[in-house]
Amino acid sequence: MTIAPRPWVDEIQAYRPGAGSGSEDGSMAANESPLGASAHLGQALADAISGLHRYPDPLAGNLRSELAVLHGVDPEQILVGNGSDELIFLLATAFLAQGGHAVCADPAYQIDAISAVSVNARVTRVPLTEWKHDLAAMARVRADIAYVVNPHNPTGTIRSRAEIQEFAARSPAALVVVDEAYIDFTDDPDAMTAIPLIEGGRIAVLRTFSKIHGLAGLRIGYLVASREVIATLRKVRAPFSVGTLAQAAALNALNDSNHRDAVREHTLRLRAELSALLASHRLHAVDSQANFVLVPVPDEAGFVAALQAHGVSVRPGSALGAPGTVRISVPTEAGLGLLADALHHLLPLNH
Ligand code: PMP
Repeated sequence: MTIAPRPWVDEIQAYRPGAGSGSEDGSMAANESPLGASAHLGQALADAISGLHRYPDPLAGNLRSELAVLHGVDPEQILVGNGSDELIFLLATAFLAQGGHAVCADPAYQIDAISAVSVNARVTRVPLTEWKHDLAAMARVRADIAYVVNPHNPTGTIRSRAEIQEFAARSPAALVVVDEAYIDFTDDPDAMTAIPLIEGGRIAVLRTFSKIHGLAGLRIGYLVASREVIATLRKVRAPFSVGTLAQAAALNALNDSNHRDAVREHTLRLRAELSALLASHRLHAVDSQANFVLVPVPDEAGFVAALQAHGVSVRPGSALGAPGTVRISVPTEAGLGLLADALHHLLPLNH
């Protein structure tokens, strides 16, 4: 006899990651860093190799201390995870299991709902308004956790800190999780982050090293929250989920502000060029504050396949809950050239 999944688990559609194009420049499906990681990463990893026969520091103490200074919080208010995805699952395990209720946007980052359903929680999805979170409508839902992805994935839209603060004040949710995976690509990350709002204990902020730091392959992210929330999550976590190499890479990334600045400058510049290129083909992308743009297209499947045939891989909107669109990650300069060539073959110019 084979073991049967719990019925709520059976309902879940497994997450489907974006397909690669086979080429570095053509990969625009997974919002990774087009400029890679810090040039000092190799040395940082080499230095850490001699300690790999030991278990990693379970709480990533050095990294946690640096992050605490960076964000002006106590180290006990930070938990490092195997990517922010691990932390999203821990939040569900600790605060939603067996009948909890989560509210998120529709469409939203899929792992929020998948993690909730996996522990038999109920999920209310609130449609976006003009591609943004409808915070007024979300505040009417009596949930345990409210998820706000800011900037949002898959739209790239943002709500201000004041709007998040007002939402948290109005929402009956016990915890508002603000996922800031893309915050470094906003016009003013310091003014937009919700980290200054965590003091009241109702707001928790997720960050990742996968985007601006270019460490998606090493799997490391963190949560900034109240001491109580962090202490609770520590009870349900796997003790050594964040490896020694990932910790060393993250510490190196924090200390390489030149690389971070270069990725940010590149992303903002190429995002504008990407939107302008699309507009020249009568494709109007949603205004984005992230390292990708969402763009409505007349024939989603045909468009994705045609780009793929030209060596450009983008994410079909229907895989993200946004049918009739595609999501295109900000590429390298050469990648933008590939996309321009592909569009030139596919669509007439707007002049
Ligand atoms: N949150 C959002 C909004 C994301 O888009 C992603 C990555 N696609 C994640 C979290 C997961 O990031 P990590 O690589 O840290 O698990």
